[in-house]
Amino acid sequence: MGTVARVVVVTPDEENAHHAIEQAFATIKHLESLMSDRDPNSQLSYVNQHAFAEPVRVDDAVFEVLIASLEYSRLSEGAFDITIGPLVQLWRTEQSSGIAPSAAAVARAKELVGWQNLILDPSQKTVRFAQEGMKLDLGAIAKGYAVDKALEDLWQLEMSGAMVDIGGNLRCYGKAPRGSRHWRIGLQDPRKDENTVLTLTMDDVAVATSGDYRRFALVDGKSFSHIINPSTAQSAQALSSVTIIAPTAMQADALSTAITVLEEQKGLQLVNAIKGVESILIKEGVFIMSKNADKYIIRRSHNN
Ligand code: AMP
Ligand code: MG
Repeated sequence: MGTVARVVVVTPDEENAHHAIEQAFATIKHLESLMSDRDPNSQLSYVNQHAFAEPVRVDDAVFEVLIASLEYSRLSEGAFDITIGPLVQLWRTEQSSGIAPSAAAVARAKELVGWQNLILDPSQKTVRFAQEGMKLDLGAIAKGYAVDKALEDLWQLEMSGAMVDIGGNLRCYGKAPRGSRHWRIGLQDPRKDENTVLTLTMDDVAVATSGDYRRFALVDGKSFSHIINPSTAQSAQALSSVTIIAPTAMQADALSTAITVLEEQKGLQLVNAIKGVESILIKEGVFIMSKNADKYIIRRSHNN
């Protein structure tokens, strides 16, 4: 998934802890082998190569993520779109050269993007593309899904508490480590990696952060976020960091990407309309919070 994963468990027995952690990593690796778009042997890569020619049957986990993705496309009116693949690939290729792609190349790739052209058949669990050249990219949702599944393993293995973090998508439950009453996580400064701007307290909840500081490219000396607005084909840069707190990690992951594209006004509207979901946005160093985000914040660093 192109990032780092971290698993923490709380349990009285060290051997059980190691076994559980191994199981959680095995689940994460398995899901990566299905959903990675960089691995040419993944199921997703197979779909990308064949789903225009014929319907492709996929694993239940992949189908579940695809169904959820279309749901987030509808909810966000297309701001979230896993058919963004051709545009992401274009920016990725150009990233190494440091030169922006031509307007014509961007326009051609944009033509291939559109979640309405992704056809899912729930009875057969098949995927089909209505347009040739379409490419799926699950980079905005698969990490969250994997966090949820790994955490489910730990729950089934009866850990008293656990936390799974894949590249800033994290979820925890139960007992916190070292006698703490609650799990705590620090939100990084979008501009300075080592600074924590906020400390959140979280129990049985998920948090995800999308921000232009984690992965960005320098193109023509200007920084570009890795999140693309499907309607303009340009990178979404208005918000420097979007943190979503939600019941599941998949929800937090997908929504953090969607809100980055929607920006603060429409983004907050969407967040405030979904029960149990809160957001903390940072725009030019200023915090913008959803209605009840406050209840998760236990400390704000003084220089903010
Ligand atoms: P995240 O870090 O969760 O915000 O996901 C960002 C990744 O999602 C990018 O690296 C792309 O692979 C992919 N992506 C970019 N723009 C979008 C979009 N508008 N909708 C869905 N996925 C996207
Ligand atoms: Mg995301």
